[in-house]
Amino acid sequence: MTIGILGGGQLGYMLALAGYPLGLHFRFLDPSPEAPVGRIATRITGQFTDRSALKKFAAGLELVTYEFENVPVEAARFLAERVPVLPPPAALEAAQDRLNEKRLFQKLGIATTDFAEVADREALDGAVKQIGLPAILKTCRMGYDGKGQWILRTAEDVSRAKSELPAANAAAGKRSDSEPAQQSTPFLLERLVPFTRELSILAVRGRTGETAVYPLVENHHRAGILRLSLAPAPQLDRAVQLAAEDAAHRLFDALQYVGVLAIEFFEHEGRLLANEMAPRVHNSGHWTIEGAITSQFENHLRAVVGLPLGSTSAIDVPDSAEVLAVRDAHLHLYGKSPRPGRKLGHVTLRASSPEQLASRLGELPTYFHRPEFALDAALTRSVSSRA
Ligand code: AMP
Repeated sequence: MTIGILGGGQLGYMLALAGYPLGLHFRFLDPSPEAPVGRIATRITGQFTDRSALKKFAAGLELVTYEFENVPVEAARFLAERVPVLPPPAALEAAQDRLNEKRLFQKLGIATTDFAEVADREALDGAVKQIGLPAILKTCRMGYDGKGQWILRTAEDVSRAKSELPAANAAAGKRSDSEPAQQSTPFLLERLVPFTRELSILAVRGRTGETAVYPLVENHHRAGILRLSLAPAPQLDRAVQLAAEDAAHRLFDALQYVGVLAIEFFEHEGRLLANEMAPRVHNSGHWTIEGAITSQFENHLRAVVGLPLGSTSAIDVPDSAEVLAVRDAHLHLYGKSPRPGRKLGHVTLRASSPEQLASRLGELPTYFHRPEFALDAALTRSVSSRA
């Protein structure tokens, strides 16, 4: 079975690596002759707007998916007339325009930042009045990793941004010249949220409607680039995880979604505000390759192909160095691959008295202080009843 993937970057590369053990073959379409997937799969070099390249790419494929959300919607629709395209092109369309995306969140009852559309330079003052300062002005399309954004804190910032925005006529003219099919508003003003942290969720829905959700991840960006993801997000309220899952399910139902979906949130005053979504595997999910029972890449492929989804649980194994940092602790790992409830190893703790043993038990990583390690509690009880 050959799967077509639009986009041949690192996410596509990791999809193919996850798909080979499932017996899948891959064909990629990418405009660059240097797209990394050329090393490991068939790669067609062509523009996404080139219909003959699209036809050549689609011939004989089982289905098409994508690893890049700025694939032109027209290309996805053109392919969808020939072969199933999953996630559905409607998801691509919603995610490509920040205004559409925010309106969709609003329509589905998913809390998001306050926002206003800004058609051109003349409309900025009205939007600032509505949203207030500080605010962030963003291009609606093609902005990513913080590109095409202006942070507005003062009236001077507003004037400066205005001088960079097109005037009313120019904005309309520019749109009709370069993107005749798209009637989107070029800019969006959002309230700047003094968030506690940024979180993202990856959720997956299969062809049969089966769903699975990974634990929320805490993300740290610098200069618009994701530098660090902590998975699962530390000190997370169960209610926050459930709110993120609820948002994913609303989008799944509305879009008849199939595949992995990423949603990025701001956590603010204990609540989640959706910032944006990506209808594809996501870089905040790289951890799932080694850190979850089934990676996002494998689950995306299982979903689009129609296979049962794999467990999204994080693999919870204590860090060997932390265990061995406890005096007279000895670690025995059995070399098995982790699965929930599977015995992977044991720790022997030696001590010269029950009190010392209880104290050394207390020094073990938090992993050992969970209800299933009842011995820990039993020993502590026995020591205190003797005292
Ligand atoms: P985006 O391109 O929307 O992902 O924005 C890039 C980064 O800018 C985000 O990861 C946030 O750190 C920051 N940012 C975007 N929108 C807002 C907002 N409304 N309030 C505060 N920070 C924001």
